Amino acid sequence: MMISSENVLSRQLKPLCSRDNHVMKYEVGGSRANTGHFASYHCGSAGCSVRYNSTAGYHVLFGMPGHAYAVDEPGVNTVKCPIHGRWLYRRKNIDAEPRVRWFCGVEDCRYGYIANTKYEWVRG
Ligand SMILES: [Zn+2]
Ligand SMILES: [Zn+2]
Repeated sequence: MMISSENVLSRQLKPLCSRDNHVMKYEVGGSRANTGHFASYHCGSAGCSVRYNSTAGYHVLFGMPGHAYAVDEPGVNTVKCPIHGRWLYRRKNIDAEPRVRWFCGVEDCRYGYIANTKYEWVRG
């Protein structure tokens, strides 16, 4: 697996919260809102603290600012990008069918996957 400076979380995503399907917002790492070291997306719903980034997948942060640690959301992170080895995120379903689409969060990666099928693709 290659880890390079290009392997970063895109700021252009609209990941859905794994608990309430709320669209999550980008937060830089080490900020007042995001006590983790790395940039992540944060669900803004009341009482919900779910975050996503491509390194940790869906998680919540515990601990103090500067000493925060990520705990996985149980059962949510199931598929990694075969190109980057990073966790996929859920995206709003644009189909009429109730399928969940997952995409890689790494900038410019076009890998996608539809849950409950064997279908996967890389958009060209
Ligand atoms: Zn949420
Ligand atoms: Zn990828």
